[in-house]
Amino acid sequence: MGARAGIVVTGTEVLAGRVRDRNGPWLSDRLAELGIELAHITICGDRREDLEASLRFLAGEGVHLVITSGGLGPTADDLTAEVVARFQGREMYLDAELERRIAAIVEPLLKRWRGLDPEAIRTSTRKQATIPRGAEVLGPAGTAPGLVVAPADGREGPAVVVLPGPPSELHGLWPEALETATFRAASAGRSQFEQRMLRLVGIPESEIAETLRVGEEQIDGLEDLEVTTCLRRGELEVAVRYEPPARAAWEELLELVRERHGTELFSDDGTSVDEQVAALLTDSGRTVAVAESCTGGELAGRLSAPAGASAWFAGGVVPYANEAKARLLGVDFELIERHGAVSAPVASAMAEGALARFGAGAAVAVTGVAGPGGGTEDKPVGYVCFAARLADGFELARDLVIPGERPDVRDRSTTVALHLLRRLLRGESAEL
Ligand code: ATP
Ligand code: MG
Repeated sequence: MGARAGIVVTGTEVLAGRVRDRNGPWLSDRLAELGIELAHITICGDRREDLEASLRFLAGEGVHLVITSGGLGPTADDLTAEVVARFQGREMYLDAELERRIAAIVEPLLKRWRGLDPEAIRTSTRKQATIPRGAEVLGPAGTAPGLVVAPADGREGPAVVVLPGPPSELHGLWPEALETATFRAASAGRSQFEQRMLRLVGIPESEIAETLRVGEEQIDGLEDLEVTTCLRRGELEVAVRYEPPARAAWEELLELVRERHGTELFSDDGTSVDEQVAALLTDSGRTVAVAESCTGGELAGRLSAPAGASAWFAGGVVPYANEAKARLLGVDFELIERHGAVSAPVASAMAEGALARFGAGAAVAVTGVAGPGGGTEDKPVGYVCFAARLADGFELARDLVIPGERPDVRDRSTTVALHLLRRLLRGESAEL
């Protein structure tokens, strides 16, 4: 059996949902890349007993490696180092050399913030320099050092990698953690895994399930592929993991999916529709503008998210009110009155208006009923109209009823708009 790991995310703010956990998923990806099997992610508040219980649980499950996130700072609720020390049977001691290093980091900050109490700072520094005896020290990133702590001599159990909570600090210390002797020993049994990701759109999960059934009959060694499917943000993700000898089975499966779902399969190399749109815009030298009503800026948010987006994202407007559609995008009031604000002609006029307003090479418009109110028999909640248009007049249009609650309708509309833009830029038809 290969190396197995667990992750303990600490922080009352994460437990309460005030801060969304970014460290668990990030670490999960890193472990997968390393071929270390992740068994569990647990989340607990900043309480000693709860953190201890998580560690006990994971050790009981027989994982070789535990990674903790958070609770390394100078405040009283930061108690991870201490809890891990006790768990591994090690005492805490003040590492004088580490204290000097942290003091050197803090010193310039002290100069900038006048009026801080130097004694309080010294206490904080000493707390962060107090670590389990025998731990390997990482960093520090910020002022908190990371730690890699093996069980004390004569004890059994997982190695524990202790990382700070702020994601940038955790990312910064991770490469160093991998280099430690303790980490290497604990992950020694890791297997080599290949990971692939297929993405499809406009297809129910049952269809891919059927394809997998067909594959079981046709493909030798399909059972050596670990296939998980997940419906997410209106797309179907098929993740496949296998050890190198099973590669031929993976290739046959890919061929089968291509045969049966050629139109719906938009990514066989793990790229997202966002990345593909960015690449298409870069390659074509076109800029894109958006006019979005029911998505309220989410499309602009996704288009502007990648680094370098300024090269092709011209901008967007959110004309929520009819007057805004008219004034900002030149949509004819009469058109709105005749067809309604949520209609194919208005979506098309919004796209045309955005093209002109931004002088862009392409534009996408979205208008719909996000709910929960505002639905009619003709145009129920979730009814959304899309138009994507090139400056030369080539246009794709779609309208559909998107299931789910208001946030789902907004989120999936954004995804559909990106797919329509993708198809427009590829010169394809509107069918997804
Ligand atoms: P610090 O020295 O900043 O206190 P720390 O290691 O003690 O570092 P925490 O106190 O647990 O870390 O968290 C500090 C902040 O880092 C949190 O308020 C939050 O903004 C961010 N953070 C912590 N854990 C996570 C997480 N799992 N996902 C995203 N952000 C997090
Ligand atoms: Mg803290």
